[in-house]
Amino acid sequence: MQTSTAQVQQDPSRYRVLTGDRPTGPLHLGHYFGTLQNRVRLQRLGVELFVVIPDYQVLTDRDIADRPAERAEELVLDYLAAGIDPERATIFTHSAVPALNQLLLPFLSLVSVAELQRNPTVKDEIAHSRQSSVSGLMLTYPVHQAADILSCKGNLVPVGQDQLPHLETARTIARRFNDRYGAAVFTEPEALLSEAPLLLGTDGGKMSKSRGNAITLGADEDRTARLIRGAKTDTERRIGYDPEQRPEVSSLLLLAALCEGGEPQEIAEEIGDRGSAALKQRVTEAVNEYFRPHRTRRAELAADRAHLRAVLRAGNERANAVADATLAEVREVMGMR
Ligand code: ATP
Ligand code: MG
Repeated sequence: MQTSTAQVQQDPSRYRVLTGDRPTGPLHLGHYFGTLQNRVRLQRLGVELFVVIPDYQVLTDRDIADRPAERAEELVLDYLAAGIDPERATIFTHSAVPALNQLLLPFLSLVSVAELQRNPTVKDEIAHSRQSSVSGLMLTYPVHQAADILSCKGNLVPVGQDQLPHLETARTIARRFNDRYGAAVFTEPEALLSEAPLLLGTDGGKMSKSRGNAITLGADEDRTARLIRGAKTDTERRIGYDPEQRPEVSSLLLLAALCEGGEPQEIAEEIGDRGSAALKQRVTEAVNEYFRPHRTRRAELAADRAHLRAVLRAGNERANAVADATLAEVREVMGMR
């Protein structure tokens, strides 16, 4: 089930957003155009925003979380630089909200192992994982995500395409919980996809923090230019927008269009048969131009780490209050008090 921004605009007060990013590295252009920009838009419409930094989830595809607290602060930095208002948004970490994690137990009872094993995104994450065997946490992470969303009664989730199967799990869990306990505790959350639900990385695969193919929001202009110059394209000289047949070239065109505020087809026309080098030049200029203010704000905010920590502390406090209330309701309908 998907919602559009136009639908939200009609009645922003109906919605509460929960979304987030694993603290596995700095945010990249895929995050920005896949979800972060939508979060800021929704907040500007007056929608209440919860952003989880799922630090426990770092352990799905590796043994140890590398500097999770520091990486969480880096994410806060990008959120604030992108325009998320810490006075209105609740930014929190998994590990600081016990009631959220406790929701996992009843939720796990609502899905079968076969259902978990069928999830295509989990299969893809397993294929890219650094581990020789599949951990229980890897298999159950869509359920953990359902706990994230439902702990704060989120009903709108701005995400990239890879997250749609997980959102289906969250919807299933909300529905089954209500059915099993005969109470309308949860509503089924809806996805909000952006114009760039799957931005490709420099290797032609999904741009990801942990796949070495990302252009980060904090990268400087030279590094951005170098990375885009090295991006995979194809050998056809004439540039055209065709996401099915020419995914790499099309993703670059889309990126330029999003930064410039134009249409990918028009940019393709303008470049014509000047080939990949001209396309990359155009994309580099567009990205560096668009992100200049973001990067300046980011550098300013980076000077005050205490502020970033204070934002997280306040967010954790609020997320605890909300998740405690949800858990109390869950225990009540389960007859546990
Ligand atoms: P990791 O490699 O550690 O899994 P990631 O880059 O996949 O990192 P996540 O933290 O898993 O990032 O995803 C955070 C959010 O960003 C999700 O909503 C996801 O759908 C979105 N997202 C991630 N990569 C892209 C992309 N390339 N295009 C569009 N959206 C994306
Ligand atoms: Mg991911």
